[in-house]
Amino acid sequence: MGVKLTVDDGYDDRWIDELLFGTKRCTECGEDLPANTEHFTVDLSAEDKLTARCRNCRRTDQRARDVSRRARRKAERARRREGS
Ligand SMILES: [Zn+2]
Repeated sequence: MGVKLTVDDGYDDRWIDELLFGTKRCTECGEDLPANTEHFTVDLSAEDKLTARCRNCRRTDQRARDVSRRARRKAERARRREGS
């Protein structure tokens, strides 16, 4: 039989994106993703106007930052309470 197009992860238009935009490798997870804003966040200071890390990794990063910020605030509050 001829070439069979398979849709593996339900993401059937990814190859179209790769064709149109080319691929870009995320520096964090190392995955090759279509170089568009669906997969990367806009960074106007970057050469290709896209962040080096994919949206997924940035989201994870953001969550980690939120957690550490909350922990820091909690520690500060505790410290202040001790001081007074
Ligand atoms: Zn990534």
